[in-house]
Order: sequence, then C-alpha cells, then structure tokens
Amino acid sequence: MKVIKFGGSSMADAKQFKKVANIVLSDPERRVVVVSAPGKRGENDTKVTDLLISLAETVRDGGDVTAGVARVVERYESIARNLKLDRAIVDTIRKDLFSRIASRGDSYAKFLDCMKAAGEDNSAKLMAVYLKSRGCNAEYVNPKDAGLFLTEEFGNAQVLPKSYDLLKQLKDRDSIIVFPGFFGYSEEGDVVTFSRGGSDVTGGILAAALGADVYENFTDVDFVYAANPHIVDNPFPIPLFTYEEMRELSYGGFSVLHEEALAPVYSLGIPVNIRNTNNPDAPGTFIVADDKAPKSTFPVVGIAADKGFMTIHVYKYMMNREIGFGRRLLQILEEEGISYEHTPSGIDSISIIIREVNCPDDKLARVVERINATLGVNSVHVVHDQAIVMLVGRGMTRSVGIAARAAEAFNHAGININMINQGSSEVSIMFGVEGKDAKPAVKALYEEFFD
Ligand code: ASP
Repeated sequence: MKVIKFGGSSMADAKQFKKVANIVLSDPERRVVVVSAPGKRGENDTKVTDLLISLAETVRDGGDVTAGVARVVERYESIARNLKLDRAIVDTIRKDLFSRIASRGDSYAKFLDCMKAAGEDNSAKLMAVYLKSRGCNAEYVNPKDAGLFLTEEFGNAQVLPKSYDLLKQLKDRDSIIVFPGFFGYSEEGDVVTFSRGGSDVTGGILAAALGADVYENFTDVDFVYAANPHIVDNPFPIPLFTYEEMRELSYGGFSVLHEEALAPVYSLGIPVNIRNTNNPDAPGTFIVADDKAPKSTFPVVGIAADKGFMTIHVYKYMMNREIGFGRRLLQILEEEGISYEHTPSGIDSISIIIREVNCPDDKLARVVERINATLGVNSVHVVHDQAIVMLVGRGMTRSVGIAARAAEAFNHAGININMINQGSSEVSIMFGVEGKDAKPAVKALYEEFFD
C-alpha cells in the first residue's frame, strides 16, 4: 500500500482538489491520503495557514475576528461551491473556527497551534466529503483518534514513539483514510503542530507506522533539481537521491521536503517518491536507502544554501590542553535551551554555529556574559548574517579533489570561505560564507560541477 501526501499548492482550489482525487482514485494501493491546508493560488495569494496565524494574532490583540474568519471560510467555501458539494461542510468549518477561538486559554503558544491546525483539519474533512461525492469509500480520520501523539513543543513538536503502534491499527480499516497533516496531540490532549511544512512529517510517520511500500509526496515540481531553480537557470533534474543526500540538502535549505520527514521511514528503508500533482505521469524523484541506490556517476548531486546563521567565536590560549572546556562551553548553551548546529575548532579556538531563530538577543547576551565570566577566555565575539552552503553527493566518498574544485570556484567568484566542515560520511562538504554570498556561492559551485 501507498501513503500519499499532498502539499498546499495541491490543495489550493477546486481544480487542484479534482487533480488530487483523480490521483487517489487512479491507484487502489493509495490507501492513506495526508493533506496540507490550502496553499497559495498565485503569486500574491496567502496560504490558509498564514491567514490562521493572523487570525490568532487578532484574537490575542482583542480585535474583531469577523473579517479574519470570513477570509478563511471563504477559501473552503469556494472549493466546496466549485465542486458542487453540500453547504453543510462549510457550516461545519465555520463552527470549528469559532469553537477554536472560544477555546483560547492562558497560553498563546497552545492557542496558536490549535488555530494553525484548523487549516489541515478542515482541508482533510473537505477532501473526504469530496472523495465520497466521487463514489470513493473515503473517511476523515482525526489524529487523536488514530493515536498520533507528539511532544508538547508547540510549533515544533516531535512524534512520541508510542504513536507508531497505535497508528498501525489504521491498517484494519477498509476505507481510504484522509488524514490531516501538520499536527497531532500532546498526552494532555492539546493540539500541537510540527514546524512549518510539517505535513511532510505526518506522511513519513504514517508510512512508517503502516509499513507502506512507498511514501508518495505530491508537490508542484516534476523532479527535485540539483539546485534551487530560483538561483540557477534550468538546473539539472535528479531522478534519485539517497536519504542521507536528501537530509543534507533539506537541512541546507532545499524546501522540497521538510527536514524531518525522512526520519520515520529511514530505518525501515521505505522509499519516498516526490511527484507533481500537475503532471502525475512524470515519474518524479525517488529517495531511497544507500544500498538501493545505483553507484552515482556524478560526484555531486545537489547544492544548497541557507542563510540566517550566527557564529560565536571563542578564543582561549592553550584551549587544547584544558580538559572539559568544550563540555563546559556547550553546557552553557544547554542550560539556556539553545540548540547549536556545528562546532568547528582550532587548537585555541572554537566556533559555535547557531541558527539565528534559535537564539534571541537576550539569550545570546546571557551566553556571552556567562562564557566571559566562567571560562576564563581571551575573547568571545559574535558574527551575524552567516550562510552555509552544502555540496552534497554520495559519489564524493573517497573522490579526490572535490574540496579543491569547490575552493577554486569560490576563489573565482571572489567569495571568502570562513568555515569548511566535512562529516565522516563524506556525503557532504559544508562551507560557511557571509549571508550576501549565499546565492553567488550556489551559482559558482553549480557552474563548476554541472555546467
Ligand atoms: N500548512 C502548514 C504550513 O504552511 C503545514 C504544511 O503545509 O505542511 O506550514
């Protein structure tokens, strides 16, 4: 059986709903359908999730919610009207929004997640009604009833292991299951969402729990490309990546798939197939386990860049002789609740690379103060607006000269590299550059390895 997930652009309007239903109905193995909230219908449109976030802000600020509710309901209403569905579903959706608004308690984070989840939840209800109208035995399934339990990290939750056994029971149903993406429930029974784009994660969890043969992830591109098409013209389409390659690229800024979506399917080796709702005949891109991937003929299969990093540089003369320095330094971050990304080091220096979003100014000030006060360092300074650029490919393993070619490409483009990091798997090389150099760096590497 297949678990199949549709992103926001596939759910944006009635035309897209029809395409989704055609895809679902064309293959009896497509048993579980995970849906996102309706996305943008064009350049200047707004995603339903963003409408819901504004609505939550209006509630928080004590404003009038009438217009905000109407904007959200209108998105579903126009889909229902154009699909000639009974109006009852629209009333259900309106009531659902008002009841979420009325449930507002003391915690805004909790309330915000409850509002955001309305996008996917109502999308799934509407899709189930539509599939039924097309003669399909479809059924909306609520994540709480099915047993999708998450950590109580509002806006950034992770799946709790017990969910897998509970979700497995969905196998016994003989209907086509329509499951809302993006959210689950805490053990206390509150709605909790994954981070943005998290419906991909829901799909991965269901594919793993049900032991799917494949996890099909429908979006709006025929393939995953070797580089961002907004940066490089007509980049090379890549028919197959390994999990490791895709994980590195998603981490490095490829927005095709949520960074955490592969974790559930990785250990089971369930292949993921990225496909296009607007061109379902295209085979798409497969993401598979390393031992299922053919030997790569190219050393590099993808180039990604992401901005929004900062680096804390710490210098202490004779640092290499001081046992426990690294632990004490990182403990400060742990105690402040800051997740770090990398820690490249020299003999007397260590740099900690952190995503800016994970370290607000007040925490940063405290960290710097604590490092100075407790670690006896010679200097500590912070550099903002950094980017990382990832060169990824399983073919790089034991290939000679890749780093040299990359460094030469940066040299030609006049880009300063301020950090190089290669993991032991040799699947990727990461370069730290200034934020302004992120795009030119991708172009330079693309020209070197693909043109
Ligand atoms: N609708 C949510 C978002 O916009 C989740 C998703 O689409 O996967 O982030």
